[in-house]
Amino acid sequence: MRRLILDHALLPHGWAENVGLDIEGGAIAAIQPDATSEGRERVAGITLPGLPNLHSHTFQRGMAGLAETRGPEGDSFWTWRQVMYRFLGSLTPDDVEAIAAFAMMEMLEGGFTALAEFHYLHHDADGRAYADIAELSGRIAAAAQQTGMGLTLLPVFYAQGGFGGAAPTEGQRRFINDIDSYARLLEGARKAIASPDDAAVGIAPHSLRAVTPESLREIVTLAGEGPIHIHIAEQVKEVEDCLAWSRQRPVAWLLDHASVDQRWCLIHATHLDEQEAKGMAASNAVAGLCPITEANLGDGIFEGADYLAAKGRFGVGSDSNIEISAPAELKQFEYSQRLKHRARNVLAEREGQSTGRSLYDKALAGGAQALGRRIGAIEAGHRADFVVLDANHPDLAAVSGDRWIDSYVFVAGTSAIDTVFVAGKAVVRNGRHLNREAIRARYSRAMARILS
Ligand code: ZN
Repeated sequence: MRRLILDHALLPHGWAENVGLDIEGGAIAAIQPDATSEGRERVAGITLPGLPNLHSHTFQRGMAGLAETRGPEGDSFWTWRQVMYRFLGSLTPDDVEAIAAFAMMEMLEGGFTALAEFHYLHHDADGRAYADIAELSGRIAAAAQQTGMGLTLLPVFYAQGGFGGAAPTEGQRRFINDIDSYARLLEGARKAIASPDDAAVGIAPHSLRAVTPESLREIVTLAGEGPIHIHIAEQVKEVEDCLAWSRQRPVAWLLDHASVDQRWCLIHATHLDEQEAKGMAASNAVAGLCPITEANLGDGIFEGADYLAAKGRFGVGSDSNIEISAPAELKQFEYSQRLKHRARNVLAEREGQSTGRSLYDKALAGGAQALGRRIGAIEAGHRADFVVLDANHPDLAAVSGDRWIDSYVFVAGTSAIDTVFVAGKAVVRNGRHLNREAIRARYSRAMARILS
């Protein structure tokens, strides 16, 4: 049993001081507001529940910055994808683990304490399954253990190269499975998870491009109660191709053909019409927004104001990992709405409400739901995952309460992060991961070889 006392903490009902926590087996066993410090280790600063990162492809951290040179014409998501396919062509299992550990370390330093890894890189460079079909899933799980990151592993089902059952391309050969091999992969991923308290496994049909209606139906039955994530409506071309194939827009098609419920997380859902936004909100699924990546890729702007007015749920993800920062994702989401609507404080629901606090609360709830774990709140029974902000940071020292979160999200960003706890253990202190040197050295060696 570990006993802490938090100077200031954001609890489900609001701010509290001198919060006593008893932590057992990585979870909060008991909470006592206005506790005395006797027999407790003091956590100075401002303690927030750690934000879940609901969408990432960790290997893409290694190609961050490699697709920022203008090509011959019309750079887009699709030209970026060509760079990505080339990059992943040479990755070994050791590379995948080294890059994943580096990305997860940056996520912990960036205010995320749990991750949903949308993992689609399964086979060797020739497209052959490794002797253990879940070799690379195991590497992701190993990186999570090395860094202390809470993990929801989402092995991806990818079978087709485009709508209407098109054959996969050369560039996709490391992703491809049929239903049987996918079921074995899922089994292997479940075994790779060391402790069910620190990790979960869900499923992820890659996108409507990559499955047929029949295979989607079949793999959804493998999910059980676990989460189901899918990329959807990220790109205008994807919407047009879906309309040509089915006469329906992607989200409308999914809502009509799958029983979308609270287990589902619809990644991006950038291009929604009014009916789709309402239908998605009513389904209780989570919108998996990745505002920094969506801006980097030129995807478009999510209909945030309409969707939140319809009581839609959302969380945020770092996706391509071009920049890793929990506060910056929330800021980018709000700023996209300000630019779109030429207004300020768009995503706060009512007069007098802090925009930072409102975004943070909703991304905690949506993220925890999407990851399918008991996280996202400082509450008995939840994992003891916290981010502690420096109360003496110049942007935070003279304010209090929700203004702390406004300053964290809009001003100070990750420079305000002091300590990060996962499952009751500190993994970041003074803003730096405890194994930073070793993880960084291994990453640098891998990248030197990959880019040589
Ligand atoms: Zn993605």
